Amino acid sequence: RKPRLAISACLTGLNVRYNAGHKASSLCLDLLDEHFDWVPLCPEVAIGLGTPREPIRLVGDPEHPVVTGTLNSTTDFTGPLREYGEQMAEQIDDICGYIFMQKSPSCGLERVKVYQDEGRPAQRAGRGVYAAAFCARRPDLPVEEEGRLHDPVLRENFIARVYTYADWQSQLR
Ligand code: SF4
Repeated sequence: RKPRLAISACLTGLNVRYNAGHKASSLCLDLLDEHFDWVPLCPEVAIGLGTPREPIRLVGDPEHPVVTGTLNSTTDFTGPLREYGEQMAEQIDDICGYIFMQKSPSCGLERVKVYQDEGRPAQRAGRGVYAAAFCARRPDLPVEEEGRLHDPVLRENFIARVYTYADWQSQLR
């Protein structure tokens, strides 16, 4: 049986993005599909944001950003995204890794844009709020952004880490 991997749902071709589109990844769907079974998750849809929806973004302190809408909205989605990340980290305990969508205020692992006060440029310094909460609860889980897996060395390293983790998990069961 192939190891089960969580994956940002938009990477699997599901139309869950803010614009009702997807970011289907041929790298995942063609190249990595022989290694893994997929568990697609979209935190923004899961917390009740519709499709299509207004795009959200990180704002404030890059170390502790919050997630909010961009236009006509001051709603703070940080709490629901964080809670969903913690909940899923506990709930899907049979996964052996996670491939996240880069640059997302929810799913990005690093260098996500954090918008500053009016007139100041965004910094690429944040981590998606959902991804941060999920990874904090599962610190040993192999995780990567899809964009980094186009590098063959990083890809092989990630595959090896997932298989090592899967072996370790099977010994515990
Ligand atoms: Fe959903 Fe994450 Fe993809 Fe955004 S990046 S559409 S939150 S799965």
